[in-house]
Amino acid sequence: MKESLNLHKEPLFDKQNKPLIVSGPCSAESEEQVISTATELSRMGVDVFRAGIWKPRTRPGGFEGMGSVALPWLRRVKEETGMLTATEVANVWHIREALKYDIDILWIGARTTANPFAIQELAEALRGIDIPVFVKNPVNPDIELWVGALERLNKAGISRLAAVHRGFSHYGESPYRNMPQWEIPVELKRRFPELPVITDPSHICGNRELLFSVAQTAMDLDFEGLFIESHIDPDSALSDKNQQLTPSDLKLLLDKLVCRQSDALETEGTEILLELRRQIDAWDEELLRIMKSRMSVSEKIGEYKKRQNITILQTSRWADLLDARLRKSRLLGLSDSFIIEMFRQIHQESINLQNKVMN
Ligand code: PEP
Ligand code: MN
Repeated sequence: MKESLNLHKEPLFDKQNKPLIVSGPCSAESEEQVISTATELSRMGVDVFRAGIWKPRTRPGGFEGMGSVALPWLRRVKEETGMLTATEVANVWHIREALKYDIDILWIGARTTANPFAIQELAEALRGIDIPVFVKNPVNPDIELWVGALERLNKAGISRLAAVHRGFSHYGESPYRNMPQWEIPVELKRRFPELPVITDPSHICGNRELLFSVAQTAMDLDFEGLFIESHIDPDSALSDKNQQLTPSDLKLLLDKLVCRQSDALETEGTEILLELRRQIDAWDEELLRIMKSRMSVSEKIGEYKKRQNITILQTSRWADLLDARLRKSRLLGLSDSFIIEMFRQIHQESINLQNKVMN
């Protein structure tokens, strides 16, 4: 069955002028903070001003947003800068409030996308009001929940949809707050080529250091825009302070980004090639992440061996490991020579790391 979304004829934004930049603070905290951040962002050509008004916090007691008192501040942003405004809605009351204050774009947060009951209620509340809605991926790496949310909204008549890739939660150590798992948004694009996909490096990274590389990967994968947090004074932010950039640092990041023109190559044949390359890029990202996790475990083994005074290399373990891997890889149709060579390299790197830990 061919899937499709019934999207508005006029694209939500112009691919020629990509990437679409959505920026603003994690939370609207005060009128002064909102207006000063927005004024700087609009000077830099940011298209849409984002600010959370109702904040879904994992634990109670955190800053839960200013609520409706902040809505007139967003209206002021729109009047004074001309930028479109966007905020997160998670229940019917949020929608009513946001519409009263002419918010231009609603976004649905990751925790809400994961809940089909909540999405259905929002879709019903929006029936007959064709406002643009950006749908963040669900917190868990489940593309069907993401697609399901887009479909529920689309069936209620929302035709100006975009997907926001904000990474997926995980258990255990990682350099990211939420794993990018690029293969998932790439697959979403493959299934719905007309649907714009925007990456949110802020919530993927959780810190400022990795923002640029994630934003650049999004551009290399030909995604349509960036959804990125900016605060006039990040260190004093009431939520997500570690990942927000000042407007001027955001400008530096955007100026450094290389946005390649994929359209020039868009003849039928090359489009297929580009798509396949996107898939390869996404899988390679994943391979690197997996390799990093594997090497972290090797280091832990090194620490254990040091404490217990055990040698790094136990020949029988290495021979058994290689045998077991070969048995599995044969089932997958991978060649022995490739697998032996690959595991030799991986094993050697583990030994090098353990050597470092022990000496
Ligand atoms: C946000 O954009 O501030 C937010 C809460 O995002 P997410 O739903 O991706 O966690
Ligand atoms: Mn945030």
